Amino acid sequence: MHDVQGEVIVTASAGISWYPTDGNQGTDLVQKAETAMGRAKESGIQRVEFFTSDMQASSLESLRLHKDLLDALEQEQFTLFFQPQIDLATDGIAGAEALVRWHHPDGKIVGPQDFIPILEDMGRIQELGEFVLNQGCDALQRINEAGLDLPRMAINLAAPQLEDPDLGSKLAKTMQASGIPPEQLELEVTESLLISRFELVQNQMSELLGMGISVALDDFGTGYSSLQYLTRYPFSKLKIDKSFVWNMAKGDKDYEVVKAIISLGHSLQIKVLAEGVEDKRHEQTLRTLGCELVQGYLYSPPIDFKAFVEYLRKYSHPGQED
Ligand code: C2E
Ligand code: CA
Ligand code: CA
Repeated sequence: MHDVQGEVIVTASAGISWYPTDGNQGTDLVQKAETAMGRAKESGIQRVEFFTSDMQASSLESLRLHKDLLDALEQEQFTLFFQPQIDLATDGIAGAEALVRWHHPDGKIVGPQDFIPILEDMGRIQELGEFVLNQGCDALQRINEAGLDLPRMAINLAAPQLEDPDLGSKLAKTMQASGIPPEQLELEVTESLLISRFELVQNQMSELLGMGISVALDDFGTGYSSLQYLTRYPFSKLKIDKSFVWNMAKGDKDYEVVKAIISLGHSLQIKVLAEGVEDKRHEQTLRTLGCELVQGYLYSPPIDFKAFVEYLRKYSHPGQED
């Protein structure tokens, strides 16, 4: 006989439905008890929940949303909006960030916070990511062909994309098809991505950088902010999260954080971009602190391709680089 070591902790959650209030049939009652159990598990361990009609409504809603999202992937109902990034030294356009939107068949434009986490849970975020990369490169190709000047397009990467060993070859293929130079492409990654699979990500990053694609660190300061990443990976840019920018009134701790990030970036020769710049005061403070790049509603919210092309026609001056 083997020695059995360790301890196994078993917990239970329960869902309860009532006869006849919740139904007359056994199958119906069990199904509703299961819905209540699902809610009990969501709210923590060792909980008991009684079925209520709003639970059914929300579980039906979530089922519908899952189905709608599968249709959206299949029918390519996603689209990209673009938000300009401004160089404070010249006031010119240094680049743009591509931000995904869901063009829902009922006419609504749905923001990424309402569907990206669900696609992640469904294990389908990679498909959206590839669509976004292709669309982003396609948009860039059209901008180049129109003779407009956009030094760089930034595209957000989801975790499974950075873990995909074929990312480099997929990008090479996309760029070859669209004929855009790799220097025009920047990928935005977040810190949480970097800690999850350190070695794999390190190899992946080397491949991208070797191809001439730059990588920006997004939402810096909101996660682990490990300084090790900054020395190990040659990031092209550090992006300061909008929450710091909004609370930057002088004297506030967030002001000190912004100041420290900018000075850290400068010491490591990494450009710093502050996002969420909504008013002139934000801009002035960032200018004083020596921040090079800004992005926010003060300049433009994310806009659709047509509006973005208009924006470039109006404000871009060929020959200006970041
Ligand atoms: P993020 O990468 O930090 O993107 C910046 C978000 O801040 C965008 O929200 C943008 O619209 C918003 N923003 C920019 N300037 C301002 C401002 O001055 N004021 C305010 N109130 N908001 C501002 P959005 O487009 O809703 O995107 C939210 C998040 O969704 C992004 O945060 C990013 O994490 C994710 N996301 C967006 N597109 C993609 C994508 O194509 N792929 C992946 N994986 N994630 C994406
Ligand atoms: Ca971003
Ligand atoms: Ca951000």
